[in-house]
Amino acid sequence: MTYQLAHRRYTLPFRKPVRTAHGLWAERQGVIVRLEDEAGAIGYGEVAPISSFGTETLAEAEAALAALGDRIEPEWISQISPQLACTRHGLSEALVAAQALPAAPATGTDYLAVAALLPAGRAAIPAADEKAAAGFRDFKWKVGVGDIGDELSLLDDLLGKLPDGARLRLDANGAWDRRQAERWLDRCADRPIEYVEQPIAADVRGADDLLLGLAHDYPTPLALDESLVRDGDIDRWLDAGWPGIWIVKPTLLADPAVAIGKLAQRRMPVVFSSALETALGARTALQHAFTWPGEKRALGFGVWPLFVDRTFDGPAAAPFIRAEDLARLPSGETLWSALS
Ligand code: MG
Repeated sequence: MTYQLAHRRYTLPFRKPVRTAHGLWAERQGVIVRLEDEAGAIGYGEVAPISSFGTETLAEAEAALAALGDRIEPEWISQISPQLACTRHGLSEALVAAQALPAAPATGTDYLAVAALLPAGRAAIPAADEKAAAGFRDFKWKVGVGDIGDELSLLDDLLGKLPDGARLRLDANGAWDRRQAERWLDRCADRPIEYVEQPIAADVRGADDLLLGLAHDYPTPLALDESLVRDGDIDRWLDAGWPGIWIVKPTLLADPAVAIGKLAQRRMPVVFSSALETALGARTALQHAFTWPGEKRALGFGVWPLFVDRTFDGPAAAPFIRAEDLARLPSGETLWSALS
């Protein structure tokens, strides 16, 4: 079976620039791909690389799509270089949709908790109040953005604002060096922190040993996020016996079903997370979360409304996402038409 391939780039300004340890991020760019078979069956997929996170660049993804031409065979998709994980992901997603393959059976979960995303710095404190009032009990605070002393001094104020039974996770986005990470982990050791995400950047020399050492030396669990994006990362960390949490952004993985299957088989603790993709990619990512057989931890999908153009958003952040919400997300056809 031959498929017609077409693709359209999107450039979607964020409602508010997203502040990360990599700086301010003003707009999301990516590509929607469309496959149509000879009988007229159509499927859409999303190619949403984040090169600062370790994926291919958008230009590389578009060059790979252009090189495929406008008619492709399904086998070509698995032959795309693993360095182009997001490109492979989007094409596979479109192929599965065009083939109308049945989705994996759900695990009987009707809804999953969502972690409220708190802004960096002191703004986290009023935001935590507001989110707690809205019913959130899981919170994620971006750290490693401002001065370390200022941020450390805010931690207890923030914990004091959270309702009983709430869980707080911290995300450093790889901003700390070893000394800074140790200061933070000393402070977290006797406090109720669910985990600390990516304390050390994935691409510094000796990062793996540093992360493993910190994970063994401190009681607060650590989570890998940026460390799990490149080809072979998940296999390497499984071989290394990573003792912490695994943040999975399905949109950034060439073949998320395979990667997630390996983590499920080894009964690893997994948190599913947004790559700030559109509703098209988010639906696929959330389907993986809903079919995860292990312990359900709060989703890292408290991101919407995200775009100035609401057409591309998923459901507005609420303390839960329901399985039935996925069916109400805008279709690939809707997003494709919005880009014409
Ligand atoms: Mg993260």
